[in-house]
Amino acid sequence: MKENILVSSCLLGKRDRYNGCDSFDEQVVALQEKYNLIAVCPEIMGGLSTPRNPAEQKGDKVFDNHGNDVTDAFEKGAKECLELAKKYNCKQAVLKAKSPSCGSKKIYDGTFSKNLIDGNGVTAKLLQENGIQVYTENEFDRL
Ligand code: SF4
Repeated sequence: MKENILVSSCLLGKRDRYNGCDSFDEQVVALQEKYNLIAVCPEIMGGLSTPRNPAEQKGDKVFDNHGNDVTDAFEKGAKECLELAKKYNCKQAVLKAKSPSCGSKKIYDGTFSKNLIDGNGVTAKLLQENGIQVYTENEFDRL
């Protein structure tokens, strides 16, 4: 029986990104030969719509580019993802790099100027804290 893993829905071609586009990644889709892919989009699951304003983390908070505090939606989405991971016994996740929700290791610095800093998106962080290994689409070959 195949193991279940969480995957960012935009990597699978769903147009869930803030700008209404996807981040389709053929190699991530090909992981379905080995795993059952459980698609998640924490920002949609947190109640945000598509398209939406771009958002970045600043400290423990998340703001969109108009200064609106969207932290609650990001945290709600993260919790929903964790619940799904538990329900489907996912031990690993492949989540979109640099996203304020899904990114791991590197995220944007909160100034909307494309500067990256060390850090994890809200969902990636919560999953990691709960023992789930999070990879970006650039690291999936480690799976
Ligand atoms: Fe993709 Fe994650 Fe952003 Fe949703 S929140 S569009 S899954 S990067």
